[in-house]
Amino acid sequence: MDGTAMAEIPGAVAAQRRMAEDLFDALRRDGLDEPGVTRDPYGPGEQRAHVTVRRAAEALGLLIGRDAAANLYMTWPGADRAAPSVVIGSHLDSVPHGGNFDGAAGVVAGLVAIAALQRLGVRPACDVAVMGIRAEESVWFQVSYIGSRGALGTLPDGALSVRRIDTARTLAEHMRDCGGDPDALAKGARHFDPKRLRAYLELHIEQAPSLVEAGIPVGICTGIPGNFRHPCVTIEGETAHVGLPRRFRHDAAMAGADFAMAMDRLWEAHEARGVPMCFTIGRFHTDPAQHGLTIVPGTFQFSLDVRAYDPAVLAALEREVDAIVAAVQQRRGVRFDRGDKPGAAVGRVDPAIAAALTAQAASMGIATMPLGSPASHDAAAFAACGVPMGMIFVRNENGSHNPHEAMTTDDFLAGTAVMAGWLAEAVG
Ligand SMILES: [Zn+2]
Repeated sequence: MDGTAMAEIPGAVAAQRRMAEDLFDALRRDGLDEPGVTRDPYGPGEQRAHVTVRRAAEALGLLIGRDAAANLYMTWPGADRAAPSVVIGSHLDSVPHGGNFDGAAGVVAGLVAIAALQRLGVRPACDVAVMGIRAEESVWFQVSYIGSRGALGTLPDGALSVRRIDTARTLAEHMRDCGGDPDALAKGARHFDPKRLRAYLELHIEQAPSLVEAGIPVGICTGIPGNFRHPCVTIEGETAHVGLPRRFRHDAAMAGADFAMAMDRLWEAHEARGVPMCFTIGRFHTDPAQHGLTIVPGTFQFSLDVRAYDPAVLAALEREVDAIVAAVQQRRGVRFDRGDKPGAAVGRVDPAIAAALTAQAASMGIATMPLGSPASHDAAAFAACGVPMGMIFVRNENGSHNPHEAMTTDDFLAGTAVMAGWLAEAVG
């Protein structure tokens, strides 16, 4: 069955619209934390979202399950339950005071797509599980892909003992509160055998304005950037009197400024060569308790996130950062302590899935464009385990990680129709 058949079912689109709008309204109420929504991972905000989507899944007759990382599975059972299954996943947590669609849209899309196919009388050949993924937003635990890597058995060492920045409680404690079993994870338990997964599909709002700029509702993902991060870099210089001549100074703040500007020039050079990358310094500060108007700052702190779509580019960037640090240390007579360096692998999209999604959209008259993901997504954790992966982006104004995300229901339904069409073809 192709997309044209889906669009011809009278009332189907109206029913999907109502279901999507009701679910988004309920999720917004659950997470309301003016301005915006807060769905704190392994906390009350995320927990309420789990209850809401679970209820919607039960209404569709889906089977409900959980794993040791307390991820939620809402499974549409297939004719052959032992056959490799399809997972449609996204995260249900948010940043503090974020928007309603980042993450949640992918879970709602999975449920709405299944509802549409059920209405058409489709019986899937294999299981199709909609997965409500835990703790994707790394602002809380400063570890990426916690839920998805928990399910795949690839959580990094030490992750269970990291502390949530606002509660100072460990991931293991938070997980236990939500019905998870961190001890099982520590022993290597995993929910998925990647070889038993036929595909992983994720729909997400676009977090950059490329689709808005192009006037196109849906993007087909070409890749997810990998990253390396230094959550806390400290520069040690020498604290001194404000009158100290320049030649005697070891100014840690100026060393930070040198580093930031060198990184910006590096990005500019990559851009000129057409090589996609980006870096962000989210924190950049002296300690106001120690430093002030008349003190040359002897210490300085910042965070660094560097991302690229090609593992070779990412590796080269790590070497460039080493070189910049060495040069700034030499020039300013300071020392960089870069601390931990968590990272995430580049997420390669399965070319056959991307081509099939593009063809589905074309058959429904939905305009799409190929799009490199500007952000990290759980899909990358599946791709890293060799699971064939695809992503659908939906046009969204005003970016994300803020309360002003703006995705129209029309665009959401267009992206969801592409997902449903792909599912019908793949498992129908
Ligand atoms: Zn997200």
